[in-house]
Amino acid sequence: MKVAVNGYGTIGKRVADAVLVQNDLQLSGVSKATPDYESILLNRRGINLYVPESSIKKFEEMGVKIKGVISDMVNLSDIIVDATPGGLGPQYKQLYQSMDKPAIFEGGEDASMVDLSFNSLCNYEQAAGKKFVRVVSCNTTGMLRVIYALRSYKIKDIEVNIIRRAADPREIKKGPINSITLDPVKSPSHHAEDVKTVLPDIKIVTRAAIVPTTLMHLHQMTIWLNKKVTKTEIVNEFLNTPRVVILSSASRVQSTAEIMEIARDLGRKRSDMPEVAVFEESVNTDGEKVMLSYAVHQESIVVPENIDAIRAIYGKVSKNESIRMTDVSMGIMSGYLV
Ligand code: NAD
Repeated sequence: MKVAVNGYGTIGKRVADAVLVQNDLQLSGVSKATPDYESILLNRRGINLYVPESSIKKFEEMGVKIKGVISDMVNLSDIIVDATPGGLGPQYKQLYQSMDKPAIFEGGEDASMVDLSFNSLCNYEQAAGKKFVRVVSCNTTGMLRVIYALRSYKIKDIEVNIIRRAADPREIKKGPINSITLDPVKSPSHHAEDVKTVLPDIKIVTRAAIVPTTLMHLHQMTIWLNKKVTKTEIVNEFLNTPRVVILSSASRVQSTAEIMEIARDLGRKRSDMPEVAVFEESVNTDGEKVMLSYAVHQESIVVPENIDAIRAIYGKVSKNESIRMTDVSMGIMSGYLV
């Protein structure tokens, strides 16, 4: 299958690299709107670069080689992963529709513009035959993996405090740089509603604040189950869930900075951590109540979901097989990270 990545930014560049290591997928090309260091590196790697019609002159003036315009890329591809900035989706959906191509959108787009909001563990099978699928946001993907891990307990209620990173590491103009900002001020926040686009029956509320860091998000979750549980039982559920890793109590890890250092120590590409990272020491139970904290690497957590979403739409590879193929090819772990 020929896959195009429209929008080669934080998410798009990672999805493009993930496509390149899949045996059943081929990267037909990527697109960017502005010429910069990323376009120079793309030229150097020999990856086909397509641009919007209105940007051709800018790229040519910078001496960047382009293969064509975005409609050319869409035309020669079987499926498009649209990782353009949130809000451009509806405009590009029209292009994909006009050429009868399926597409995957990202969490910055409205759920109402797609046929399905997607998470590999929670609703892979529902994507079969769908034309437009949205991989939910990084925060939502993190919450869904944790909820999936505890699904056998029939969850009664969930509350989450979401501590969000202010910007991605390469974003030099975003902030805050010296503030803890409620975003949104309103509580509960909209994040819980996004979880319900995948699991409509779950009872959940969220609150969110932004802090001056670029590394990861951190979630503090409380879950009420329908029976008494022990810490060991909960940790065992996480140990047996794909794309969830545990930071053991013995590792003494207590921060996102240390998790990113582990990613570097492991030689991970771009020091990515696509797994949800649960702090074992934070997991605590009190009868039916479970408390835990985990970190979400916003730049990479949704990348494996995008790869699975491609296979899920075609409906030929089972959920477990797709997750296995994606995880083996990308080196994604489960169990104890350290
Ligand atoms: P980004 O700004 O890093 O990258 C966007 C890319 O799209 C850039 O390469 C830009 O050149 C290109 N682009 C801009 N206008 C374009 C146009 N008209 N046509 C084609 N390409 C165009 O964005 P991002 O952070 O990768 O976010 C992409 C999507 O993924 C958004 O929906 C976002 O909400 C979602 N998402 C982002 C993160 C994150 O932490 N960055 C996490 C999960 C989901």
